[in-house]
Amino acid sequence: MSSFETTFSKRLEALQDAKQLRTLVSTDYLGHGLIERHHKKLMSFGSNDYAGLADHPEVIQAAQMALDTYGAGSRASQLVSGYSALMETLEKELADYAACESACLFGSGYLANIGVIPALVGKGDVILADRLVHACMIDGSRLSGAAFHRFYHNDHEHLSTLLETHRSPYRHCLILVERVYSMDGDVAPLDNILEIAKHYNAWVLVDDAHGMGVLPPHHGDYLHLGTLSKGLGSYGAYVCGPLSVIEYLKSSARSLMFSTSLPPASVAAALTALRIIKQDPKRMQHGLDMARYFTEKMRMKMAQSAIVPLIIGDEDKAIALSKRLEDDGLYVPAIRPPTVPPQSSRLRFAFSIWHDKAIVDKVIGIIK
Ligand SMILES: *Cc1c(COP(=O)(O)O)cnc(C)c1O
Repeated sequence: MSSFETTFSKRLEALQDAKQLRTLVSTDYLGHGLIERHHKKLMSFGSNDYAGLADHPEVIQAAQMALDTYGAGSRASQLVSGYSALMETLEKELADYAACESACLFGSGYLANIGVIPALVGKGDVILADRLVHACMIDGSRLSGAAFHRFYHNDHEHLSTLLETHRSPYRHCLILVERVYSMDGDVAPLDNILEIAKHYNAWVLVDDAHGMGVLPPHHGDYLHLGTLSKGLGSYGAYVCGPLSVIEYLKSSARSLMFSTSLPPASVAAALTALRIIKQDPKRMQHGLDMARYFTEKMRMKMAQSAIVPLIIGDEDKAIALSKRLEDDGLYVPAIRPPTVPPQSSRLRFAFSIWHDKAIVDKVIGIIK
């Protein structure tokens, strides 16, 4: 074996020993929230398409029309020739939805975060991040070269303390939070955070990945970042904010400047999905309603979003419970370290338009 192969076989073994080896399971979408995995038909609680927009007939039709008209790819980065009228319309409507002056698009939520954060801050600046922010916010912070501190999850008083201690030697300060935390489903105390930020002259970047298409828009003086790939059922991401900031990003966010722009079909799909949730807010409310029904019946803290974690602790137990649900035709992913902190392995439920009380009752029956 080559040194290449021996090195990586050993690393794979080490991952396996640490129970951190992940394998991909091919999953076919069958319609109406059903999937096929391991040759079994399962009702999925592992999809971020909360409002069922990925296969909404109008969304598919819009994507098909864009595909027929413009082809499969966008052919260049936005700055060369990859910026289209369709993208311009989507930006306008996203900005309007967020009540912001302007918006720009990125290839994905991951790309948006690793592009935006280093464009906003750098050496001589400081970042304060909630302890549970998504991996791509951490990666963006590392790329920026700014000093970095974390505050306790959703603890605005701790944020205040850290600002008091760390703010003054730095030029700019950026606070990183999520609107809805992806593995916990709870929401950030945005109004408190914005007030504190104002007091300490800090900027705020809010990642709304799991809020978009689930919760009504939250307006405020901060930079809005979100993905088109979850509640909107498409692919890509956006940032909304003041015109000057958005224009600056177009000339400085490297993941926007040096990456091919979104395929036209994804843009058209996202635009149609956005129009659907604007017209029919009830459609996005259903996942939250089912999450609340679940937490009420389970006597858990009331759900704040469509995501509900059932904390198990031990990872083998979480996997066993996930398998048990799979035997009964239900797919609920077990999430374990390093995605979540040690001993906090969990079943992560994502409720959507495809779930009703009967299926939620069935899940509860098995868990109990
Ligand atoms: C999913 C997610 C992302 C990544 O978005 P993609 O479009 O999937 O790359 C970023 N931030 C948060 C909080 C997320 O949950």
